[in-house]
Amino acid sequence: MSLRCPIVCVLGHVDHGKTTLLDKIRKTRVSQREAGGITQHIGASEIPIDVIKKVAKDLLGMLKADLKIPGLLVIDTPGHEAFTSLRKRGGALADIAILVVDINEGFKPQTIESINILKQNKTPFVVAANKLDLVPGWNSKDVPFVLNFNEKVQHPNALTEFEIRLYNNIIKPLNELGFDADLFTRVEDLTRTVCVIPVSAKTGEGIPDLLLMIAGLAQKYLEDNLKLDVKGPAKGTVLEVKEERGLGKTIDAIIYDGIARRGDYIVLGNPDGVVVSRVKALLKPKPLDEMRDPRDKFKPVNMVTAAAGVKISAPDLDRVIAGSPFRIVPKDKIEEAKKEVMAEVEELSIETDEE
Ligand code: GDP
Repeated sequence: MSLRCPIVCVLGHVDHGKTTLLDKIRKTRVSQREAGGITQHIGASEIPIDVIKKVAKDLLGMLKADLKIPGLLVIDTPGHEAFTSLRKRGGALADIAILVVDINEGFKPQTIESINILKQNKTPFVVAANKLDLVPGWNSKDVPFVLNFNEKVQHPNALTEFEIRLYNNIIKPLNELGFDADLFTRVEDLTRTVCVIPVSAKTGEGIPDLLLMIAGLAQKYLEDNLKLDVKGPAKGTVLEVKEERGLGKTIDAIIYDGIARRGDYIVLGNPDGVVVSRVKALLKPKPLDEMRDPRDKFKPVNMVTAAAGVKISAPDLDRVIAGSPFRIVPKDKIEEAKKEVMAEVEELSIETDEE
């Protein structure tokens, strides 16, 4: 058994910088010359662990652990609607979350709402204390936060302003909600204390620190859940149903476990029953440099291993809705998959009724 990528979701109050932060994360590169960077999936981006280790090489020692996960799969759509609509049996699809809080504004209604949703789902999270560049006097650069957080780089007044905001706007409200929290450099046990990582989605400061801490936390918390049974059928959730030119109705989906193979059968659950169809194509986005014609956006693949975002083309998907759970299985496993999917639909609708 090997570990799969943890699935990461970004939450937080409107205008605190979720979209900007995701954009910045997606632009993480090792260097111009070195190959390696983000792989674009459907609806998600994958950051390979080698990239995280390289950009955060100055702070690897802080983790006191070897990173064995293959990378992070970050869902491209931020916000708590995306988080709550992406479900699997037993809870949220996302394994881990980044809660974005503007360090200058502090907690707002949707910050608290996000925390409540994370609590309900028992989803571990880190806090990205964003807009660090707007702390008065702060000298923000595209470097790891740990290299920029000292008297040689920052004026003493800026350091004081930073500490005041960190405590009043982030740590204190977290304490009031029952969480032990601290600046990540001062955290001893990642599973007990919420890590606060100061970042600027504008300058890129702190992004390496953030990626490393999520990877470390994901591995510590979730090692058992992330084990991947490579022989198992694919389990997934529908992100969106989309009409594509030349393909008809397709579904964009996240596969969180197992392997999906072209030619196998997709068994989907809807509130009104189960739909079975044959997988005609599994599609990934084509890298920009291979895209000769903008209409030709996707690249067919024979199989997809979790965790991954993929577009699925199959006939008769008209009744499928976003949030539907599914399995992709060989013919002889269809009946078994139907039962599983039915049970999952029932459980998911019970959970939605309670909310
Ligand atoms: P969202 O609603 O949480 O997705 O927030 P956005 O990413 O749309 O950001 C809201 C505004 O804050 C935009 O004008 C961004 O340019 C700005 N913004 C986001 N992050 C930063 C940051 O780190 N520093 C500064 N100065 N502005 C930021």
